[in-house]
Amino acid sequence: MSRKRRKKLKHGKLRRHVLWQADPRCHWCGRHTLLPGTPGLKAAAGITATLDHLYSRFHPERGRDNTTVLSCEPCNAERSRRENLVFRDFVRTLEVLGWRALTNRQKVAAFAEALSLQAEWRSAHLPADADGQALALSYLKTERFTT
Ligand SMILES: [Zn+2]
Repeated sequence: MSRKRRKKLKHGKLRRHVLWQADPRCHWCGRHTLLPGTPGLKAAAGITATLDHLYSRFHPERGRDNTTVLSCEPCNAERSRRENLVFRDFVRTLEVLGWRALTNRQKVAAFAEALSLQAEWRSAHLPADADGQALALSYLKTERFTT
C-alpha cells in the first residue's frame, strides 16, 4: 500500500470517528450506526457506520465541495447501486440510439449534464425515481451533445 493511500485511509477513519461522535445517525435514513469494531456489531448487522460523499460523483457540486457524511452501510451501498444502474441505462439508451463511440469520460460528462438539466437534481441525492432511459431521451432532445 502506498503512503498516500495509507494516509487517506487513516484520514477517512478519523473523519468517520469525528462525525460519529458528533452524531451517530445515518445522514440519509437517520438510523443509529455503530463504528466498526464495536462489540455486538455483527448481531446488529447492517448499521455499520461508513463515510459517504454528500454529493454524488455525478453531481456538479462534488468537485467544489468534497463534504463527507456518516452513512449506514445499506444506504451507502444502495445509493451507489442506484447511481450505477441509472448510469448504465442512460449509456445503453445512448448506444441504442447510435452514440457508440463515446469514451468513458464522455459518458460520465453526458450523464452529469443530463442530470443537471433535471430540475430535481438540485439536491445532493440522485432523485429516487431517476430513470436512465428517460434521462437519455430528454438529454438528446436538448441537442447539446457534441463530440
Ligand atoms: Zn442509512
